[in-house]
Amino acid sequence: MTDCIFCKIVEGKIPSRKVYEDEDMLAFHDINPLAPVHFMIIPRKHLDSLAAATDEHAPVLGRMMAMAGRLAREQGLTDGFRTIVNTGKIGRQDVYHLHIHIIGGPHPLPRMIAKE
Ligand code: AMP
Ligand code: ZN
Repeated sequence: MTDCIFCKIVEGKIPSRKVYEDEDMLAFHDINPLAPVHFMIIPRKHLDSLAAATDEHAPVLGRMMAMAGRLAREQGLTDGFRTIVNTGKIGRQDVYHLHIHIIGGPHPLPRMIAKE
């Protein structure tokens, strides 16, 4: 997708601090980290959001989830981490190329979301 910032990162047109890459996915540090460790895993092939995922995407999405623990440990998150996939308007998704945030650090994170 020509106008997608994460597609541009996949294509190397925008720089990123890479954590991992293979034929299906790319992982790189968030430019605006919310915790001491904050990176995301994205599929190489553009997919708007989790709301648009179908069976066709299951193998790659499964591989991304299965890679999360290993990459988190490699970034020092040996005692757990949080995964977040913001989806659509209600999920406050900003970048419409599906991504799994991996967030953590030495101390427990705040609870999931604040109650309104
Ligand atoms: P979301 O709100 O889930 O769509 O999150 C989008 C995330 O992408 C935010 O945490 C941004 O800080 C991050 N982000 C935006 N542009 C870049 C970039 N060029 N490199 C790395 N992270 C980015
Ligand atoms: Zn894209």
